[in-house]
Amino acid sequence: MQQASHPTLILGGGFAGLFTALHLSQQNYSHPIILIEQRDRFSFKPLLYELLSGELHSEQVYPRYKELLAGSNVTFVQDTVQSIDLHQRQVGVGVGNLFNYNNLVLALGSKTTYLNTPGAAEYAMAFTSGEQAIALRKHLRHRLHQAIQTQDSARRRLLLTVAIIGAGPAGIELACTLADLLPIWYDELGGDANEIRVMLVNRSKEILKGDVNSHLRCTAQRALKGRVIPVDFLFDVTVTQIQANGVEYRQHDQTQFLPAGTIAWTAGTAANPLLMELPVPNHQGRLLVTPTLQLPNFPEVFAAGDCATDSDNPQPPTAQVAYQQGIAIAQNLQRLQESKPGIPVQVQMRGTLMKLGLNESVANLFNKVQIKGQPGHYIREATYLQLLPNAAHNRKVTTEWLTDEIFQRDRPFTHMQLGQTPWLSGIATVAAGFILATPLAWRAAQPTQFQQNLSWTGIPTLLNHLTPPTR
Ligand SMILES: Cc1cc2nc3c(=O)[nH]c(=O)nc-3n(C[C@H](O)[C@H](O)[C@H](O)COP(=O)(O)OP(=O)(O)OC[C@H]3O[C@@H](n4cnc5c(N)ncnc54)[C@H](O)[C@@H]3O)c2cc1C
Repeated sequence: MQQASHPTLILGGGFAGLFTALHLSQQNYSHPIILIEQRDRFSFKPLLYELLSGELHSEQVYPRYKELLAGSNVTFVQDTVQSIDLHQRQVGVGVGNLFNYNNLVLALGSKTTYLNTPGAAEYAMAFTSGEQAIALRKHLRHRLHQAIQTQDSARRRLLLTVAIIGAGPAGIELACTLADLLPIWYDELGGDANEIRVMLVNRSKEILKGDVNSHLRCTAQRALKGRVIPVDFLFDVTVTQIQANGVEYRQHDQTQFLPAGTIAWTAGTAANPLLMELPVPNHQGRLLVTPTLQLPNFPEVFAAGDCATDSDNPQPPTAQVAYQQGIAIAQNLQRLQESKPGIPVQVQMRGTLMKLGLNESVANLFNKVQIKGQPGHYIREATYLQLLPNAAHNRKVTTEWLTDEIFQRDRPFTHMQLGQTPWLSGIATVAAGFILATPLAWRAAQPTQFQQNLSWTGIPTLLNHLTPPTR
């Protein structure tokens, strides 16, 4: 029998933790729910590139928890978890405050690792949160302003070179975004966009090595080369040091130096050290969980997202997995409250989506169909906008996005500026996007009416397969 006096604690307000909290709050769950998160804002990581570029705003993809949780019965505690005692069922935060719990959800994600590279923590910019995306935007703008005022061509070249360490999905998406975006920003200042250089630096000769998106390698490679400024590759190298003004690396037994005014780091993630201290097994830094996402010897504790894995049914560390696991944990906590056994979690992989430039993406649906270019861009954005937590927030953002796409309102750049899309094709793709996004927006706003009116067409079932159904 559970003690009613202690709350259910959720540690970490990322995809797994936040969606557990929101779904628990929407159920008939009688225990108090406390979400402990170190930041005051939720970072919608798949759309951080849009935050960097200005395609979407902070309120849209970097909203405050206070706003997201308004009206729910989740108590938000902004603090840093310092200790977890599974035997005493106690969590320590900040400077010594303790929380007891009946149930605990571990959703602390992973952290950036610089792979012991000297200088990386000081001089390379990570790209995993809204705060870091905004910092990178400011830094890049500053570099462009410095460059336009510089007469010395070698110095200007350094200021205009961006080195991105790591050719996984985040490195590729960032490189594609910057290779379209920086020419526009520099052009606005009156600079020569041809002087900009975006360099992807990678240890392996292959991009997307060992990644869930590896079958998109050829598409991504073509996209990297097809940007406004083609992305340069520096592959098969070991980065040995990061300095304030560039990257030192070894290639073919020789040490070389790439001067760069901006160095972005997307090369690695490591386990959250707090979780590695727990008396439970892990696999490559992810806590081992049962199919119901519980810790084997501590069934009152759930773990999900990037920090956990079920070795019999491993899932990649992605937002779409963490989001679905959060919903499943909320259901299993409810069942636990009703003294029912937990249900094994079935994660549905719906394919993958990658941003390959401004207004360009690839949507790989069910690993069968690839939709590229602007139609891919609309599918990607509409899919992610659907995932934004909290229906009201979701509706607002989807509507704003549709308005922006159709009327090009408040956009920092247009398809014509990019010089890639003639107006007729622009209208056609916007129309295609509208046709695609309208049912999504309708379903978000009026799920019952949408289902009743369109069930005969099969569209609701199709959308449920392509995107998670709205709550
Ligand atoms: C740039 C980028 C792009 C991505 N694009 C995609 C994509 O297109 N598609 C996709 O499916 N996935 C994508 N991912 C991966 C996806 O974002 C992660 O898999 C997902 O965020 C994992 O969710 P999570 O809840 O496990 O962890 P997170 O979202 O990382 O959340 C963990 C939370 O725990 C908090 N926390 C950590 N330590 C503490 C502490 N000690 N005390 C308090 N709080 C703490 C953190 O602040 C954070 O809010 C991307 C990731 C990045 C970085």
